[in-house]
Amino acid sequence: MRKLIAGNWKMNGSLAANEALLDALAAGMGQPACDVVVCVPAPYFSQISAVRRANTAYAAIHLGAQDVSEHEQGAFTGEVSAAMLREFGVRYCLVGHSERRQYHAESDEAVARKAQRALAAGITPIVCVGESLAEREAGHTNEVVRRQLAAVIHTNGHCISEIVVAYEPVWAIGTGKTASPEQAQAVHAVLRAQLQAASAQANRVPIVYGGSMNAGNAAALLGQADIDGGLVGGASLKAADFLSIIANSRTECA
Ligand code: PEP
Repeated sequence: MRKLIAGNWKMNGSLAANEALLDALAAGMGQPACDVVVCVPAPYFSQISAVRRANTAYAAIHLGAQDVSEHEQGAFTGEVSAAMLREFGVRYCLVGHSERRQYHAESDEAVARKAQRALAAGITPIVCVGESLAEREAGHTNEVVRRQLAAVIHTNGHCISEIVVAYEPVWAIGTGKTASPEQAQAVHAVLRAQLQAASAQANRVPIVYGGSMNAGNAAALLGQADIDGGLVGGASLKAADFLSIIANSRTECA
């Protein structure tokens, strides 16, 4: 399967910084062997869309959002709908990132409805699942990620082969602690089996890993049989690091 490397800029960037980062990515990327996405703060959609339209060198960098409303439209102050994302050329959208689950109390069901809105608008949801440190230490990792994914499968049924899953152990996000390739692979295999049980087409669902992925550890993670790419936070803000991760997407499975 073609790998997917998605950068999550979180609440970082400025018009000038974005331009410099995208210029460096476009200049260094050539023809990537993987799909490349940058999930940017919503105010910058128009900037990135315009840059992509103006110069074909940026065409390989797809636009992603970091969240979407679970509602279609109406009196939901501050929310952004899937149709609005689509108007700006957004192709991918994170749903259920652990920072949204944690700071905005997003439930499994709300995340599932967000995925549904994205799919209905022709946007690929990148569904984030992952356990906290306490849950891992209590031996509940598989149960937690299976519960989170089950809600999305339940709501999205026949469309489930159109999603991307991101396994992001909460204890590894922004902490510099990475799941070992073996730890990550074990959870990816659980998620793969769950998807396969849900849909005959599930083999085409990319399952990407996120949590302190960087230039140094990407090759070992991306070399695992069920790791189909990366969701990259901090390292996606540094062109050289992100480019190195993209280059590592050529890694063959171990
Ligand atoms: C993330 O925000 O999804 C993430 C994986 O962050 P980091 O790479 O910084 O751990």
